[in-house]
Amino acid sequence: MTRLWSQIKDLRLRRDAIKWLQLRTNGGEHSLTRDEINDFFFDGERFKLIDPMKGIRKPRELEAALTIMTSFRKPGEERPYADDVGPDNLPRYMWEGNDPDTYTNRGLRLAMERGLPLIWFIGVGGSPMQFHAVCPVKIIGEEPELKRFILTPASEDELSFTNLEERDMAEEIIKRYLLRETKTRLHQPVFRASVIRAYQGRCSICNIGHASLLDAAHIVPDSDEHGIASVTNGLALCKIHHAAFDSSILGITPDYTVEIRPDLLKEVDGPMLEHGLKARHGQALMMLPKNAKERPDRALLATTYKRFLFAQSA
Ligand SMILES: [Zn+2]
Repeated sequence: MTRLWSQIKDLRLRRDAIKWLQLRTNGGEHSLTRDEINDFFFDGERFKLIDPMKGIRKPRELEAALTIMTSFRKPGEERPYADDVGPDNLPRYMWEGNDPDTYTNRGLRLAMERGLPLIWFIGVGGSPMQFHAVCPVKIIGEEPELKRFILTPASEDELSFTNLEERDMAEEIIKRYLLRETKTRLHQPVFRASVIRAYQGRCSICNIGHASLLDAAHIVPDSDEHGIASVTNGLALCKIHHAAFDSSILGITPDYTVEIRPDLLKEVDGPMLEHGLKARHGQALMMLPKNAKERPDRALLATTYKRFLFAQSA
């Protein structure tokens, strides 16, 4: 009875925390600081969702782990997060230390065995540090020789299998499904949060500052991206400037100057064309990350600038 009661409470806590985070972040649009994350209340009492000292939070009240955290990786590293992605492209989470039986590692293993949903906080930079919440995630395997767990971002109802046997049966289908899930639930949101944070929530070209009008644009497409794209392959752009950039109506030179396709410069039209596009021609980018290491990679810009020039000659 007590055991059943505690398992029900455990599930309720996870569900409440996930729901609260989704509301608090407006469905993942906003990142949160440590203080904001720990401002969660369960049954009228504050319940810390992250551990001040550890990456894995295994609350005393629960048998299994509840949340995991990955610290921010500074840009400039070759392929950020690549170490944390397995050959199947699914994210990995390292054990705490080398002992498989610390209470935190045991807590994660138990969450795996029970198919319990977890919350994953990923540092996206800023001061104070901001975290993007990916939830729910599940652990679908362990690689003890590499001291890590296999994660998958998943929605509870969509992902019904819980054991490895079932996974083997439909491996190909599930692998493709998980890859897509990883991209849409992990890579893209974390990339977006990192880029929007680096550009202080403003379009690099026109400086508009409304989150719902902003995209995190890739400078070169991320189709072959393994893991989460680096901020240096990103630009915060409003919807119209994103579309103009992707369709080569607008180009950005490697020294961060905006150019507009010559035929549009001759056109006469309403305020969007005049102010939004033509007036930006020859101007510097209005918003760039403060940290020089987070600014757009000039070599990547050169690649897309070539595409922009080529589109005019075609
Ligand atoms: Zn804009």
